Amino acid sequence: MSSTMKAIRIEKPGDVSVIKYLDIPKPQIEKNKMLVKNKFAGVNFIDTYFRTGLYIADMPMVLGREGSGIVEEVGSDVTGFETGSRVAYLSPNNAYAEYILVDPEKAIIVPEQMALDTASASLIQGLTALTFVKRAYNVKKGDVVLVHAAAGGTGRLLVQLCKHYGATVIGTTSNEEKAKLATDAGADHIIYYTREDVPTRVREITNGQMVNAVFDGVGKSTFQASFDSLRRCGTLVSFGNASGKVPPIEINILSKGNIVLLRPMLYDYIYTREEFTEACSTLFDLVESGSLKVNICKEFDLKDAADAHRFIEAGKTTGKILLRV
Ligand code: NDP
Repeated sequence: MSSTMKAIRIEKPGDVSVIKYLDIPKPQIEKNKMLVKNKFAGVNFIDTYFRTGLYIADMPMVLGREGSGIVEEVGSDVTGFETGSRVAYLSPNNAYAEYILVDPEKAIIVPEQMALDTASASLIQGLTALTFVKRAYNVKKGDVVLVHAAAGGTGRLLVQLCKHYGATVIGTTSNEEKAKLATDAGADHIIYYTREDVPTRVREITNGQMVNAVFDGVGKSTFQASFDSLRRCGTLVSFGNASGKVPPIEINILSKGNIVLLRPMLYDYIYTREEFTEACSTLFDLVESGSLKVNICKEFDLKDAADAHRFIEAGKTTGKILLRV
């Protein structure tokens, strides 16, 4: 068996030109890990943050924080998985590769009826949407919520889940094609945030009531509009940097209206094994019952990871981007 494997590695932060498709050593089994032969790796915005240096990591690094595949070897201390198990997993990088050493604490057996691409596509965006609508702000029947980039990967899942839990959803998008996707996902109202003033439109739509909560993964370009769209005691869940990092804020801006501001990361909502498996189980049940539709927007071959990064950074995503391994 070959001792090397194909992987996407970067030696230093930078533009897409730093992405290299290389032969590197295949990882060796460790007693508390399992070796997974990847079938799919998910591409997420966070991968671009590591690539550009917005988030700091040791170099060189193999990108990729989620995937799915077949367990090839199980460490001697690992229980609950066996050779041949179909798994999906989260990982601190290393997923854009033929093989990966996976921490069993952050792996889950994929239900028999579920395809491995769907499983891989569900994890980061699905768990993000699910934990944020339950734990960052508990979306309830009768709420009115604003979801930015509502046709995007995480956005479409947020829209569906907010509807599932009984809210009226206002979604923002940049164009008509995406507006249709957001509407199909359940958005009750659309705001074209690149050409309409968001708080003004929210005021019109809600008859001056404004919204209970905003889910904002766009970041820098939408932060102020999100803030200005909230009602008294409203909650702003600012969770991403698609348009750039939100500049530092002055804490006193929260006083008027007793605003709650969160900047959550998925990982601290699924930190323990129990939290992770419970969230995965709820997520897979929602997907399998048809209550939550996971949309795979585009698949690229592993060697074309740079094209996948270009695609996501151009704002073209309308669902999950996967690498076929
Ligand atoms: P999306 O598929 O939602 O793509 C991002 C969307 O943002 C685009 O489709 C685009 O939609 C919109 N957008 C607005 N401005 C820009 C810009 N300058 N460049 C690119 N896109 C822009 O991506 P994801 O679902 O993968 O991620 C969405 C956000 O969620 C990201 O910020 C990501 O970091 C964050 N995230 C955070 C997590 C956490 O734990 N905190 C976990 C997972 C994701 P439109 O054309 O409609 O404007």
